[in-house]
Amino acid sequence: MTRIVPLADRYARVATDLRVSLTDRCNLRCTYCMPAEGMAWLPGPDLLSDDEVGRLVRVAVERLGVTEVRFTGGEPLLRRGLVGIVAAAAALRPRPRLSLTTNGIGLTRLARPLADAGLDRVNVSLDTLDPERFHRLARRRRLADTLDGIAAADAAGLHPLKLNTVLMRGVNDDEPARLLGYALAHGYQLRFIEQMPLDAGHVWRRDNMVTGDEILARLRAEYELRPDPAERGGAPAETWLVNGYVDRTGNPAKVGVIASVTQPFCRACDRTRLTSDGAVRSCLFSQEETSLRDVMRAGGSDDDLVSLWQAAMWGKRAGHGIDDPAFLQPTRPMSAIGG
Ligand code: SAM
Repeated sequence: MTRIVPLADRYARVATDLRVSLTDRCNLRCTYCMPAEGMAWLPGPDLLSDDEVGRLVRVAVERLGVTEVRFTGGEPLLRRGLVGIVAAAAALRPRPRLSLTTNGIGLTRLARPLADAGLDRVNVSLDTLDPERFHRLARRRRLADTLDGIAAADAAGLHPLKLNTVLMRGVNDDEPARLLGYALAHGYQLRFIEQMPLDAGHVWRRDNMVTGDEILARLRAEYELRPDPAERGGAPAETWLVNGYVDRTGNPAKVGVIASVTQPFCRACDRTRLTSDGAVRSCLFSQEETSLRDVMRAGGSDDDLVSLWQAAMWGKRAGHGIDDPAFLQPTRPMSAIGG
């Protein structure tokens, strides 16, 4: 068997968690992510083919020690070859853990085939339980489709099922406790993500962002929370146990806060990212990218891909730098990087 050479960086971090964006397209237009009219989509030939995705995931797992693969986008359920891509990843040895980040629209049709192909679990984005707010936030009337998708993922056994929420001031910032109530009632794990400067319109302002502390204060007005004693490791969410509630397995129910802006966790970051056009990004906020697609299409070997990927990770910065006065928002918005 080929020797695994881990994806290390100069700050002694090792990336074992790969996020693969499968498309930059989406069927929602969330205000914190995409412009109303959508983007200039990447041209089809620029995107990795299913086989190219499969090859890069194989190299990541077999040669670079990646143990966790998360498919994302854009909206990954829009990718026609998704079930086959998941099946190919599930056939790898050592078998990586496989998950999907999605807005849930389409899971009523795809949850079962994805589970059968080997998908282990899903993260579904859910910012509100109010149909009008959903429309204001996502610029589409699709709340019912998202909720049906969540139920379908649940029925297909894609557990633990996590829900991701971004709060926007004046839009849904009064909803954390209601969303937690929904998650607890169904046995899902809810995580709030601080809004990051990754919007297509570049209108993010720190002083208008709903902070992790603010979210916790709102939750505590209705729920009793205590720190989760479990080791956090490289997990982005700081988790809290919700007194009086249990999850599906009978363990204390948890709620998470991903405070990427106010409490960055870069020192424990174990992530590497692939965009849908085959570029490695070592951080959401990278200004640099390394195209693996071009090397593959020029006939590069797996060894070439391994060396390039490692070199890209070696250049990973110590932190995302949002607080640096010289911070520049990446040109690609979240939808084109892969959240
Ligand atoms: N379409 C899928 C979805 O809705 O989950 C996957 C892609 S989406 C870019 C992945 C995650 O990024 C979602 O949970 C979304 O809420 C989050 N996201 C997008 N823009 C963000 C921003 N500016 N700040 C924080 N999170 C953001």
